[in-house]
Amino acid sequence: MLTRVNALGTISISNVSKRYGTFQALNNVNLAIPAGSVTVIIGPSGSGKSTLLRTINHLERVDQGLIKIDDEYIGYRQKGDKLYELKEKAILKQRTQVGYVFQSFNLFPHLTALENVAEAPIAHKQLSRKAAHAQALTLLEQVGLKHKADAWSRHLSGGQQQRVAIARALALRPKVLLFDEPTSALDPELVGEVLNVIEQLARSGKTLVIVTHEIAFARKIADQVVFMVEGEIVEQGPVEQVLDAPQHSRTRQFLAQVL
Ligand code: ADP
Ligand code: MG
Repeated sequence: MLTRVNALGTISISNVSKRYGTFQALNNVNLAIPAGSVTVIIGPSGSGKSTLLRTINHLERVDQGLIKIDDEYIGYRQKGDKLYELKEKAILKQRTQVGYVFQSFNLFPHLTALENVAEAPIAHKQLSRKAAHAQALTLLEQVGLKHKADAWSRHLSGGQQQRVAIARALALRPKVLLFDEPTSALDPELVGEVLNVIEQLARSGKTLVIVTHEIAFARKIADQVVFMVEGEIVEQGPVEQVLDAPQHSRTRQFLAQVL
């Protein structure tokens, strides 16, 4: 029997540009993200970090350039040497390969923690209700919240809600997980429990892309750090390079402000 080798979750971003009206939110962004690696994106407010994450998930359509996850183009299907734009249904299906964790948790308040985690695989007909609930319990255990399975999500602390949101993002078994400032909305004493869960995921082989201002955390887990200003990547490389020996004055300036 032939075994197919799957590189899971390699992201390649080539010449991506995006405008809002006349405002250039992303300008010719190029970034290679190896499967299973952890990429941390830093940069001042308004530099295009969220926009870049949203394009990876096709929540935002790019004006120019291409994004590929493994052998699939985001938003397109390839036939021969031609690319055809995907229809909405195919985009939704493609999006299941990419989990997204928002700053503001976005749980369904009228559902329990368990129901929040079980919802997507049921809606996408990936799992039966029973199997989705069993998986949800396993995922809640993974984020340390098995004992809160039946709690209403609105009754959980911010840190607990964000951990449920991470379990929910994992429920469709994505190859890639995107985090957009996952701890920015949390009280300081709740940040650690969420970072611990992300750190654990970083060792699990999934590809993680994390926008964060937690520089000490980036230092601990990042394989590469990307620094953005005004829609462009100014500097990228391993921690020792970008955080310890930045080449650009903008990077040095920014780090001096956040450290
Ligand atoms: P960051 O996440 O680095 O703070 P964003 O990617 O959210 O930056 O935004 C980059 C710039 O694009 C900001 O100046 C923002 O105001 C602008 N922007 C983002 N989304 C939209 C939108 N939907 N319409 C118009 N402008 C937007
Ligand atoms: Mg943002």
